[in-house]
Amino acid sequence: MSVSEVLDRLEKVRRRGRGRWIACCPAHDDRNPSLAIGERDDGGC
Ligand SMILES: [Zn+2]
Repeated sequence: MSVSEVLDRLEKVRRRGRGRWIACCPAHDDRNPSLAIGERDDGGC
């Protein structure tokens, strides 16, 4: 699964810089984005 596919499944995704995003956590009722997503240099996730 690519990072973009992960981001498609999350809510309120915001880019925080190169290869970094924050989003609402799908595992609980997240009002504010508290989940950090980062892309590794090799493209894995
Ligand atoms: Zn959570």
